[in-house]
Amino acid sequence: MVFSNNSTANTKQLMKIIPNILLIYTGGTIGMIKDPETGTLRAFDFDNLLVRIPELKLLDCNIETFSFENPIDSSNMEPKYWVDIAEAIEDNYNAFDGFVVLHGSDTMSYTGSALSFMLEHLAKPVIFTGSQLPIGDLRTDAKENLITSIQVASLQHYGKPIIKEVCLYFEYKLYRANRTTKINAEHFEAFASLNYPDLAESGVHLKVNNDALFKPNARKKLLVHKKLDKNIALIKLFPGISEQLLSCIFSTPNLKGVIIETYGAGNCTTEDWFISILKETIKKGIHIINITQCSGGSVTMGQYETSEKLKKIGIVSGKDITTEAAVSKLMYLLGQNITPNLFKTIYETALRGEMT
Ligand code: ASP
Repeated sequence: MVFSNNSTANTKQLMKIIPNILLIYTGGTIGMIKDPETGTLRAFDFDNLLVRIPELKLLDCNIETFSFENPIDSSNMEPKYWVDIAEAIEDNYNAFDGFVVLHGSDTMSYTGSALSFMLEHLAKPVIFTGSQLPIGDLRTDAKENLITSIQVASLQHYGKPIIKEVCLYFEYKLYRANRTTKINAEHFEAFASLNYPDLAESGVHLKVNNDALFKPNARKKLLVHKKLDKNIALIKLFPGISEQLLSCIFSTPNLKGVIIETYGAGNCTTEDWFISILKETIKKGIHIINITQCSGGSVTMGQYETSEKLKKIGIVSGKDITTEAAVSKLMYLLGQNITPNLFKTIYETALRGEMT
């Protein structure tokens, strides 16, 4: 990882007290160039990114940068990189007022969700952003996304940060990161937060929705959780899914938790083989979480006959959690060594505003 100083910003800091922002670069389209031979997009050197946005020097904050030594396309994202990002924030937590993480949009919602669980009692802004077009492209969306993210991370009230949670900023909207999903691979408006209101909107004015902001316990110190357990599975139900396929997944060695994306309000087939395979899996101590494959709305087990049995056999309700948050919450909680009896209650509790 590379750490670099911005001397113009240091001069600004000497003149008056302005927020210190750490810009963490992990990769993604925002800093990519086209390979002249193959035409594919690949990550390039972070220093070029700063050269391409001279406007950053005009912002009323002190910006320092920290970069992954080998920036990645976020499709190569792994929990070990989530730990790298968490450590970059932990190591610099006291020296900075806010953090902006540049990240590919493909898995940005997963990383944002994971960081929300890993950074317990976070009391400063961590804003994830990226872009659909590289920063060098004439029609790029990168400049607005980056500049406004830095401004959002710099927002203060009597010298204290206004935003105290992990957010995602994209195309004029600030969202709670663990409520987002990438919904479009082409539009600049690539993300949505269907079960939670926007935290802020950028127009002529930057309007913050104060009522929707997360209010952490101000007396607690930042606690960084780095143990994540990847022994999980994610299954999306479809009409015709076979017993053979499910038995194969459920007999994966070391499996500790399974998320099932069911239909609508948490419904599934009532076939005996399906219910008994879930029952057997739970008996083996494997947690099963029910989330909906709809983009919006919530699981309500027991509302229909087709979900009543799930409730009876002890399936965990993911309520209105996104798939991205469900995955990272499961990895995080499995890393916490919670007793099996408590697991269901804790998973069903909103820990970082990820469920209603
Ligand atoms: N494939 C890219 C990535 O996620 C897409 C993007 O940055 O928008 O890294």
